Amino acid sequence: MTILCPKCKSKHILTKHTARKICGTIGATTATMGGVATTLSAAKIGASFGMVAGPIGSVLGGITSAVLVGLVSGVAGCSAGTALGEMVDTTILDNHECVRCGHCFSLARADETSSAEGY
Ligand SMILES: [Zn+2]
Repeated sequence: MTILCPKCKSKHILTKHTARKICGTIGATTATMGGVATTLSAAKIGASFGMVAGPIGSVLGGITSAVLVGLVSGVAGCSAGTALGEMVDTTILDNHECVRCGHCFSLARADETSSAEGY
């Protein structure tokens, strides 16, 4: 799909993704901090599973669980934040900028405008 500037009909459009970048970063940071908070309980669970393999298994199980929980939380948070940011970008912010005339617009609102002009 080619995006056209609603003002000058230029095809040279930049996509900014401002909210997606911000929300992705916030999501990843928040989730990683949340992951760190739950890391202790995950480490305990991992350690108790590791007890089967002896004291070294217990330590390795704890560390592995802690690392996994931190990583999974960070990735999940980043994905959730990115999805939220994508939604904000497309519906609320003027996500697209025309290179030719500098006009900023959102695709959702540009659609509304073009369909309104049709009637
Ligand atoms: Zn333009």
